[in-house]
Amino acid sequence: MTRREIDPTEYQPSLTATGVAGGRCLSCGRATAPATHRCPWCGAVVEFADFAPRGVVWASTVVHLDSAGRAVPRALAYVDLDDGPRVLVSQAEAVVWPVGTPVTLGAATVAADWALAHRGRR
Ligand SMILES: [Zn+2]
Repeated sequence: MTRREIDPTEYQPSLTATGVAGGRCLSCGRATAPATHRCPWCGAVVEFADFAPRGVVWASTVVHLDSAGRAVPRALAYVDLDDGPRVLVSQAEAVVWPVGTPVTLGAATVAADWALAHRGRR
């Protein structure tokens, strides 16, 4: 059996001109980002979809271990998109966001990183 290194960037969503690239199941309606070929819940076909880059922080932490050659410390946050799935966001800025903070996702200056901006009270 051959072991394969997992490339964490394969599992990170990407930001496009129209939003966060992902997919939505044609059968059960659940959303994923990035898109998968088949729905991980029911196995049906998934169609591509873009989700608005706005959501609420579900969890956040600062990472001090080097991963994939990225600078540390850095932050990771799970964000529940308003109209889509929960996405994992890697952030170059080591900031812990309080749970429930409304944020907007944006591209950062470092490739594969994101920037979160507080959206104020909901
Ligand atoms: Zn499904």
